[in-house]
Amino acid sequence: MAIDKKNAFVGFHTRFGNHEAVDGLIKLIHEGLAPMGFNALILELNPGYSYRCFPEYSNGTVTYEDLQFIKETCDEQNIKVIPLFQCLSHQCENFGDGKPWPLLVAHPEFIEQKDFIEGGEWPDIYCHSWCASNDDIYQYIFPMMDEIIEALDADVVHIGLDEVFEIGEDSCPLCKGKNKAELFARTVRILHNHLSQKGIETMMWGDRLLNAEKLGMNMWEADKFGMYPAFDMEDKVTRDIVITDWHYDLHSHGYPSVEQFMKAGFHTIASFGANDEQAAHFWKHCLEYIYLGKKNHWPGKLGGLLITHWTPLTNKLADEILGGMNGTIGKSDNPWDSSEVGRCIQAIVPKGKYFRK
Ligand SMILES: [Zn+2]
Repeated sequence: MAIDKKNAFVGFHTRFGNHEAVDGLIKLIHEGLAPMGFNALILELNPGYSYRCFPEYSNGTVTYEDLQFIKETCDEQNIKVIPLFQCLSHQCENFGDGKPWPLLVAHPEFIEQKDFIEGGEWPDIYCHSWCASNDDIYQYIFPMMDEIIEALDADVVHIGLDEVFEIGEDSCPLCKGKNKAELFARTVRILHNHLSQKGIETMMWGDRLLNAEKLGMNMWEADKFGMYPAFDMEDKVTRDIVITDWHYDLHSHGYPSVEQFMKAGFHTIASFGANDEQAAHFWKHCLEYIYLGKKNHWPGKLGGLLITHWTPLTNKLADEILGGMNGTIGKSDNPWDSSEVGRCIQAIVPKGKYFRK
């Protein structure tokens, strides 16, 4: 398949929606990612990419030619570019402000929660989801996804699916009373089918497949709404999906989700946030899971690591990441500071060699 399962996946993820930031991204690739041995770049684009098929549903300025240029640059550095097309959840401009993306503004029938507070803020609202019962949305989603795939000549697509809070809501006439795990699983299947028919491998975040109560995790990191039984719906959540299992909080009891995914047969990528101390703790437990996986012959492998950057990249932020990596920018009080991501890269990525055995 498209992701090399024999060697370590060493990935960098960033949100990206600004043509002006292409220079910063290229600089980051040349001066940071390539020298550190990264071999994958996950670009979270929608709706920051300026779609040719539906320009009215874009709110960013990244062009088709920009993506081709990024792809060429990454090819030269042996870095695989993987587009992240955020599906179902996070259909909003900013986390916590409830302002829907242009597609949902133009088509409010796709908004799952019909009784949301206009202009609401966290904790009245977190992020909009699209309605998991209204398949009319795919007449827009699939052409957009396909255009990005074409521009990047991609053979892997990350479909997002993290932090779904709004699904099967009572306020949605199409979803009311439906099983939330079934709704989630059928969405995974629809997206996976679309990609697999094109010979493309699917990646997704793992958090909705995890039982928050059982694992002692919060509602972002794992599910508290009834989606997690989708984990066992193997006909829909198929084991050929590569799971990026993210943890940004420190868990003194470890990170048992990694073990859960590996035992079920998923190729699993440990995904780190911007906190180098928490990342070192998570990493320490990853070594345990690598050891246990080999010793107990778990069918899934812990196949690598992913460093995540959640602020849309700008040239300034690219410099801050590099500054954090080379130590020219000191520690910040802001846990999502881009320089913290740089420090996290410096703390974790050199250890990626352990995945290669
Ligand atoms: Zn619905």
